[in-house]
Amino acid sequence: MTTTPEKYIGRFAPSPTGKLHFGSLVTALASYLRARSKGGKWFLRIEDVDTTRIEKGAIHSILTTLEDYGFQWDDEIIFQSKRSDIYQDYLGILKTKNLIFNCICTRREISKNKKNTLSGEYVYGGKCRELHNPSRLKHAKRIKTFEERITFHDLLRGKLRQNIAEDVGDFIVWRSENFASYQLAVVIDDHLQGITEVVRGSDLYLQTPRQIYLQKCLNFMTPIYAHIPVVLNEFGQKLSKQTKANPILKENARDNLISALNYLGFDYGTQNKIIEISRNNNEILENAARYFNLKNTKF
Ligand SMILES: [Zn+2]
Repeated sequence: MTTTPEKYIGRFAPSPTGKLHFGSLVTALASYLRARSKGGKWFLRIEDVDTTRIEKGAIHSILTTLEDYGFQWDDEIIFQSKRSDIYQDYLGILKTKNLIFNCICTRREISKNKKNTLSGEYVYGGKCRELHNPSRLKHAKRIKTFEERITFHDLLRGKLRQNIAEDVGDFIVWRSENFASYQLAVVIDDHLQGITEVVRGSDLYLQTPRQIYLQKCLNFMTPIYAHIPVVLNEFGQKLSKQTKANPILKENARDNLISALNYLGFDYGTQNKIIEISRNNNEILENAARYFNLKNTKF
């Protein structure tokens, strides 16, 4: 019996907390070239589930910039802020499995827990787990974790193993402001969109095991993961709104695309050839996809 190979589906999922900067361009480009080099689809998802962090005008700016830079996405764009009902349904499934509890701990109480030395995050000690805090109190919802080793093989970074209870602890799946946590939303969206491979920044590498844990709890398939190195500024900080990264402009699209290709391991000869035969930015991307090898990405 033969099985038809799974169709590749990738995605780019920016948070509209600000305009796109060079770091987000590299991530977008890596996921795009990977998808196109596999003859697959590339979906765009706006991760605006945390409505408290949205910057006015950022969504419009991100979409326009992607278009200016030649990106063409497949299907409809998904907006997480419009999917609360869906996330709630899956939260319900976790509740019926008796995996969810209300946590009323303050930030201060959380900070009394030990820290994970790798991630710098507090490991929740389970304080509210058996307390059955009533829902009328302001609370977050956490998922129970158990001694379980989660292992995955990242295409670029190799094997990562975490003991989810010990290294992470019961983690938040529903925020006290009454929306899904990033972890829950991303896992549900990756599943419903049929994402087969996630190419994203390495700042999410250590969070992947908790996403895999959620996939297991919800009986979802686990996609393949590839975490590309995040772009750092001259002070060694990740480019972001917090570190005041400059937004990328339409006028510099060609130069920025070339720099991003270089970051993804294209040599000058290939780069020049791509530029020579491309009449516009979209053609740069389509031609680059023919020469793309994820594993050439610079570390
Ligand atoms: Zn608590």
